[in-house]
Amino acid sequence: MDNKFFIFADYIYYNGNIEQNKYLYVEDGLIKGLFKENNSEIRTYIRKNSAIFPSFINTHTHLPMVYFRGLADDLPLNDWLKKYIWPKENKWLSSEFVYDATLLSACELIHSGTSTINDMYFYSEKIAEAIIKAKLNAVIGIGVLDFPTKFARNINEYLNKANTIKEMYKCCSNIKIAICPHSLYTVCPDNFKKCLDYSFNHNLLLHTHLAESSWEIEEIKKRYNESPVNILNGIGAFDIPSIFAHCVYLNDKEISVLGQKRVNIAHCLESNLKLANGFSPIKKLLYAGCNITIGTDGAASNNDLDLLGEMSSVAKVHKGLNLDPTILDVKTVFEMSTLNAAKALKYNKKGILKENYSADFFVISLNKAHASPIYNILSHLIYGAKSSDITDLFNNGIPVMMDSKILTLDEEAIIEKSNWWGRKIKETY
Ligand SMILES: [Zn+2]
Repeated sequence: MDNKFFIFADYIYYNGNIEQNKYLYVEDGLIKGLFKENNSEIRTYIRKNSAIFPSFINTHTHLPMVYFRGLADDLPLNDWLKKYIWPKENKWLSSEFVYDATLLSACELIHSGTSTINDMYFYSEKIAEAIIKAKLNAVIGIGVLDFPTKFARNINEYLNKANTIKEMYKCCSNIKIAICPHSLYTVCPDNFKKCLDYSFNHNLLLHTHLAESSWEIEEIKKRYNESPVNILNGIGAFDIPSIFAHCVYLNDKEISVLGQKRVNIAHCLESNLKLANGFSPIKKLLYAGCNITIGTDGAASNNDLDLLGEMSSVAKVHKGLNLDPTILDVKTVFEMSTLNAAKALKYNKKGILKENYSADFFVISLNKAHASPIYNILSHLIYGAKSSDITDLFNNGIPVMMDSKILTLDEEAIIEKSNWWGRKIKETY
C-alpha cells in the first residue's frame, strides 16, 4: 500500500476552514499539507463533486448491542434493561457473539464516516480484535458491575480482566483502554472508587453513565440520600480523565460543578429521546464550560450508530427546546463530533485535518439532488447530507472504504452471520 498520496476534492474542511479545489497530501498516515496544484508522480485520488471532512469520533457506544437492534422498543429504560436487555445478554453473550457483532458495527461505522469509538461493554478483548481487523481506532471500555456476569464475578475479577486486556493491547496504537463502571445504580460508591483509583493509577480514561433517567435519580437518593453528581464529585470522578454519558437530570448547582471541572460529556440525544428520558441541558452545560461531545449509545436504544443523523438531531432539537435558532450552530455541532471528542478521549492528533495530524477523513459525494446547490458545505453536511452519501473513509492514512466498498472487512459475510445470530436469538423469544 502507498504510504504517500494526494487526494483532490471540491471542498476540504482543513484546519477549521472550508478550502476549495485543493489536494490534500498524506504521508505515513499523517496529513502533510494542502496544495493548489499537484504535478508530482505520486499517486493521486481524484474525488470530483465531493467534499472531505475529518472523520467522526463517537464518544459513547456499546458496539456488540447491534445484535439486539430492534429487539425491544418503545419501553422505559428500567423495563427495557431489566426485562429484555440484561436477560438476553445473560443468555447470549460470548466471545464469538461479541466479535461477530462488533464486525457488524464496524461496517455501519465505516459507512457513516466514523473512524474512532469510545466503547463500553464486556468481552472487551474481542471488541479490540474486531476493531483492529476493521482498521479503525477505539477506546475499549472494560464494563464493571457489582453483580456477576459471564465476563466476571466481582469487582476484583472485573479489574483483573481490565489488567489482562490492558497488557494485551499495550503495543497497539489503534487501541486505548478505559475503565467503565456502568453507573451508580449498578456499581456502589465503594466499588466505583476502586475503578476510579485503578483508572488514575494506570493513566486510563474513566467512562460511565450519569444522571440518565429520573428513576436513577430517585433510586440513588433512596439508597444514599444524595444525587449521582454529588456522589461522583465526592469521590473525585471529575478530577481525573473521564467522560460521562447522558447527564440529563442535573440542577443548576450541579451544572456549575461540571462546568468548573471542565467535565467531558457524551451527549446521547436520540437514545434519550427513544427511551423518553428527557433532554440534557446542553446549552447550559456548554456555557458553564463543559466539553460536549456526541455519542449514539448502543444500537439497541437508538437504533443506529450514525453520527451524522445524530448531529442533525442535536443541532435542531436544542434550538427548538430553547426557542433559539442561533444556538448550536453547524460549526459547534461538528466540533462536538470531531475536535471536542478527540480532546475528551486524549487523542492529541485527531479531530481536525492539519499538518502532522492523523489522516482520518471521509469523502462525501455531492452528486445528489439533495446536495444542490451548495452555499455552505458544513451546513450541507449537518442539515442536508445522508450517511449513504459517504463514499470513502481513510483512517491513519489507510483506505478503509473506497467507492462505498469496505476494503478491510467482508461486509456480505458479516451481514449473513448477523442474520444467522438474529434467527438464533429470535428462536428463544
Ligand atoms: Zn450507554
